[in-house]
Amino acid sequence: MLIENPYSPIEELNIPLFENKGLRLFIKREDLSHPFISGNKWRKLKYHLIEAAQLSKTHLVTFGGPYSNHLLATAAAGAKYHFKTTGFVRGEEVSNAVLKLCRWFGMQLHFVKRSDYKNRVEFFAQNYKSDSESYFIDEGGAGTTGETGVKELLGDLNVCYDYIVCSVGTGSTFKALVEGVCERRLNTKVYGISVLKGAENLNDLVQQYPQQYWQLLHNFHQGGYAKTTPQLIAFIQNFASISGVLLDQVYEGKMMMAIFELAQENHFKKGSKILALHNGGLNGLLSLL
Ligand SMILES: *Cc1c(COP(=O)(O)O)cnc(C)c1O
Repeated sequence: MLIENPYSPIEELNIPLFENKGLRLFIKREDLSHPFISGNKWRKLKYHLIEAAQLSKTHLVTFGGPYSNHLLATAAAGAKYHFKTTGFVRGEEVSNAVLKLCRWFGMQLHFVKRSDYKNRVEFFAQNYKSDSESYFIDEGGAGTTGETGVKELLGDLNVCYDYIVCSVGTGSTFKALVEGVCERRLNTKVYGISVLKGAENLNDLVQQYPQQYWQLLHNFHQGGYAKTTPQLIAFIQNFASISGVLLDQVYEGKMMMAIFELAQENHFKKGSKILALHNGGLNGLLSLL
């Protein structure tokens, strides 16, 4: 199976705050790779699709919350690369635009109890044990297969950035970047902005890598997962108006707001180049409007 490299240019953002602090801010537009298979979801699906095809699987089975960017990405990628898709959605039956779109891309949806969702590896093993056509993909595309694809994006960078910043949900994108930066021995520190409240245990994911390569920040979640504040919404609106780039409110708005606050507080060393990863997720923004 041939999967083309995604379109994901790096753009410099000329914003007075950064110019005044002697910083340069760049954004990697992973959000432009595909309208529905965007950003890290595209990167994480790539090797799953290749592996599924190699194993002659015809059916992708995956898991997500009711607004999951990953479910939608899997539905759209499944349609594009000719796999059947099934999504198990956490919690009681609901309807929203994301799930409707999943169905439009041909995904079968089933709502599952939180306990089954939590034990999804076993749940899949039990329910699909006699079905050799089905291929399991974890929530968010997490795991080493997905992370191999994420690391590849480092190959797109033609200069060395002092900081690469990403938002952190499950942490698998962050972990992949830290691992990739270590392997390539880049002179770069990866910053992860946690969008969950009380997710300090994410540090365990990257504990094995030298501290010079990473930093997780836990105070920019704005109240917790998918919670917003008027300040966050005002920030996203203002950022759109000064850059032409729209950010979602669940992940990338919080990440970019953190970068602005850190710059304001002189956290980054003068002369630094900062690269923010925009992993898409804009379908979630529509639910706000
Ligand atoms: C899924 C997602 C993330 C979080 O990625 P993890 O690897 O789960 O930490 C960040 N941004 C967007 C837009 C996403 O869809």
